[in-house]
Amino acid sequence: MMRLARSLDRLRPRYDVVVVGSGYGGGVAASRLARAAKRVAVLERGREFVTGELPSRFPALREQLQVTGRRLRMGAPTGLYDVRLGDDMHVLVGCGLGGGSLINAGVALRPDPRVFADPVWPRQVGHDGLLDVGYGRAARWLRPARDPAAADRAKYQALARSGERLGRGQMVAAPVAVSFEDTVNPAGIAQPACTRCGDCCGGCNAGAKNTVALTYLPDAVRHGAEVFTHARVSRVTRCAGGRWEVHLERLDGQSGAPCAEMRVSADIVVLAAGTLGSTEILLRSREAGLAVSDRLGHGFSANGDIIAFGYGGRTRVNAIGVGHPPRIESLDVGACVSGQIEIVDEQEVAGSLTIQEGVLPSALAPLLPVLFIPNGRLLGALQSLVSGVYKGPFANLQTFFAVSHDSASGRLVLEDSRVALAWPGAQDEPVYRRLDEALAALVKAAGGRYVKNPLAGTMMGRQPATAHPLGGCGMGRDRGEGVVNHKGQLFAGGADAGSADVHRGLYVMDGSIMPRSLGVNPLLTITALAERAMLHMARDLGLSFDDAPMRGAAPVPVTTPGAVASMGV
Ligand SMILES: Cc1cc2nc3c(=O)[nH]c(=O)nc-3n(C[C@H](O)[C@H](O)[C@H](O)COP(=O)(O)OP(=O)(O)OC[C@H]3O[C@@H](n4cnc5c(N)ncnc54)[C@H](O)[C@@H]3O)c2cc1C
Ligand code: SF4
Repeated sequence: MMRLARSLDRLRPRYDVVVVGSGYGGGVAASRLARAAKRVAVLERGREFVTGELPSRFPALREQLQVTGRRLRMGAPTGLYDVRLGDDMHVLVGCGLGGGSLINAGVALRPDPRVFADPVWPRQVGHDGLLDVGYGRAARWLRPARDPAAADRAKYQALARSGERLGRGQMVAAPVAVSFEDTVNPAGIAQPACTRCGDCCGGCNAGAKNTVALTYLPDAVRHGAEVFTHARVSRVTRCAGGRWEVHLERLDGQSGAPCAEMRVSADIVVLAAGTLGSTEILLRSREAGLAVSDRLGHGFSANGDIIAFGYGGRTRVNAIGVGHPPRIESLDVGACVSGQIEIVDEQEVAGSLTIQEGVLPSALAPLLPVLFIPNGRLLGALQSLVSGVYKGPFANLQTFFAVSHDSASGRLVLEDSRVALAWPGAQDEPVYRRLDEALAALVKAAGGRYVKNPLAGTMMGRQPATAHPLGGCGMGRDRGEGVVNHKGQLFAGGADAGSADVHRGLYVMDGSIMPRSLGVNPLLTITALAERAMLHMARDLGLSFDDAPMRGAAPVPVTTPGAVASMGV
């Protein structure tokens, strides 16, 4: 794969558009605005990983781990796996060019229509027809597909059998943003077929996962966008003439610590730094004088999402990734998620839940004995031959991802200039009891022991954890209800501003604008709402762009790092 990013030394003082963050929202904004012939800069705090460079061994994974808590700061601030330890809940997000798409399972689902019937959404979202257009565009670019052989996977069969015994829900193949055959994607990148190695959440080293780094971002670069990594934005301020000034710290010094401050100005700034990142930037901007809605930071949701395990079950599930190239031959694990049980509550959408069978990445394999077996440290040393985890009890280890709904009543605040989550009642949210009951019953039906949190005895404590943080800059009709309007424009605060007035040129487009839980994995909706917001921006500002696939140019192969070509320079 080609490198997209260029050195921060080449950052110009001024652009038409600065996009902050490079996940789903940032990728969409960068691609569409570059197609509209705007001069676009993308600023991403993490580093770039080309295909083949993602961690495939535990030492490399550990090097890419950053853990932050109230009294803790471990790892480089550009580490790919960004864990935030909270008093009430922990959060895991991705950090790197491509954002969460680098390390997620790629499950791409539309929520139950009852979710959008909730009056918490501004009316236009469900009624102007552009949400469907947004979903259509998101699907054309991320190309969710069901593994044609999903039902042959051992983990799929194990979950289906347990579900049947329980007599609840329906087992179906899950749509994932993965290419199951060799293909040239809409950005003109030649992607190979999925090898079914299961490592999606460690990072796809085959190039088959349809990440933002392989779709929207190369498209943006091909249309002239300039992409910068190691650029951590701290705040935005209004400068003379109505332009925006973006303040950033360079993280590309030797030590990895912030080494210099820089500024860049733009007519339009799109904050797409994710739920934690965009809310943090706006909280800091407010401290620096930006007048915003008092709702900023409110409405945090964990999307009723958990990861849990079944240990000691009777049958093989083969749910430890083998990596690419594979650590052991002839073990067909499948994509990280192949199938799911959907349990629909017809009375109350909040009662519905989806349970997916998941895979742990191969780089975590050496850790498993430590996590699941008493005296596992000793055993872990004895089992230093990694193939040990593909036999014996770990071949039967079930991993579950479950998603439902919560009350979205967490709050993001600044503590020592860093974003922190306050949600004192989080553990008692009814969703966790509902999920525990369902998962424990499934594991029991498989003859195993339900392990809710193998890290409970460590510094992780017993708090719930989520990989689907949403909210903090939620949409609303006016600033009394939300932080942005239905187009992602930031409501203006202050005595002089009308309740629906916005800051011209300042947008938010990522998971932070969700005003409630979605009840399904969020990537498709985040992408669809960003595509929708871009269509509104085009109408409002008279811009013109399409979403047609790249044609004409020769496909760019996904290759190994040794054969890196450079598209961005
Ligand atoms: C292990 C795991 C598995 C998951 N599985 C799924 C799944 O199967 N399906 C699904 O739908 N969702 C899944 N998710 C969640 C999904 O990946 C996220 O919801 C999604 O990536 C959020 O998109 P976003 O555009 O809001 O932001 P992100 O993808 O988080 O991107 C934000 C980007 O902004 C950057 N950034 C942050 N702060 C700054 C700053 N100050 N300056 C510059 N850059 C900054 C970040 O480094 C990041 O690259 C999973 C997540 C994880 C961690
Ligand atoms: S299963 Fe392996 S090859 Fe397929 S998308 Fe996931 S990481 Fe890539």
